[in-house]
Amino acid sequence: MNPFSLEGRTALVTGANTGIGQAVAVAMGQAGAHVICAGRSSCAETAGRIESAEELALDFADPMAARDVFADRAVDVLVNNAGIIRRADSLEFTEADWDAVIDVNLKAVFFTCQAFARACLERGAGGRIVNIASLLSFQGGVRVPSYTAAKHGVAGVTKILANEWAARGIGVNAIAPGYIETNNTEALRADEDRHRAILERIPAGRWGRPEDIAQTAVFLAAPASEYIHGTVVTVDGGWMAR
Ligand code: NAP
Repeated sequence: MNPFSLEGRTALVTGANTGIGQAVAVAMGQAGAHVICAGRSSCAETAGRIESAEELALDFADPMAARDVFADRAVDVLVNNAGIIRRADSLEFTEADWDAVIDVNLKAVFFTCQAFARACLERGAGGRIVNIASLLSFQGGVRVPSYTAAKHGVAGVTKILANEWAARGIGVNAIAPGYIETNNTEALRADEDRHRAILERIPAGRWGRPEDIAQTAVFLAAPASEYIHGTVVTVDGGWMAR
């Protein structure tokens, strides 16, 4: 059996309509998985690019939204990708921008992992979780306090869940993408000075593309990574090495 294949597996990807989530969903499909493309916006375009796929409406405006999602479908791989960002100086940062980001980027991630793991254990199956973290799981960033707090939290949650669940057959890991050209970084790319400053620090000499993240997610979902637990893999063109 090819250890990099997802043949016979079902993968659920949140925020699969665009950006990193879309690229991950397509790559999981190419690796042979049946893919559940979940999101608050229509994932029809993504599903249309995958041989075996379905759409699922999932809006983390309610961070507990996934509580029943795994009860009536056998999902082997969960990718917690959905995320938002709010930018403002910390002196002006509002409670609303704090709560919104923590809810989607951290609370929803934990409780979606919990719902997934409960369902896996209930049916006596193993599972793989890939959380999408950030360079701001390690660094402070600027003007994004709730995002930095949430992404540091995602790294921590990834580790504690790995500690609790590795021996029970559920692998939990995360990917920390570098600066990737998606809606999330539109404001940064529109600011010429910030765009150039970021580019100058990336050893690979270019911003990342969603496809740069996708195969690492496939690897962390596949049997090849069976003994990898609780790690945060940076896929950043070398940013963290600088
Ligand atoms: P994106 O294009 O803005 O994608 C974000 C995804 O999350 C979209 O599908 C979005 O849906 C979905 N989402 C947002 N709020 C949601 C909610 N309440 N319920 C369900 N889905 C929701 O940006 P991206 O860069 O691909 O982001 C994907 C992940 O990568 C995020 O966790 C982000 O923090 C992380 N990340 C990105 C970068 C980067 O440089 N781009 C770097 C590090 C980490 P809508 O399209 O409907 O808004």
